Amino acid sequence: MTNNNIFCSNCAYEFCKDATLCPKCGKENPYITKYVRHLSKKKCIVAFLLCLFFGSFSMHRFYVGKIGSALMQILSCLLVIGYLWILIDIFLIALEKFEDDDGNKLKW
Ligand SMILES: [Zn+2]
Repeated sequence: MTNNNIFCSNCAYEFCKDATLCPKCGKENPYITKYVRHLSKKKCIVAFLLCLFFGSFSMHRFYVGKIGSALMQILSCLLVIGYLWILIDIFLIALEKFEDDDGNKLKW
């Protein structure tokens, strides 16, 4: 046994802590998935600029893959309330609270 191994929480099989899945039962490695979940491939700065300049086209939501809410946001802009939503999105992105479609937080 070395420090580089962990035990699967599901089947107690010992495997490398860098592995994403348990090689025996296929359960996700909680150490890895926890880490991965907090890192989005999408960048805050891109979403921020898209939101700032193309917010009424909801480009920042298309960028992070939130197609459904992007379309809703465009429609809500016709009712003016959408601009308030965009303003909230700008703050969420600036505070790193904005998430992509997989629930990962965007980083600068
Ligand atoms: Zn397992």
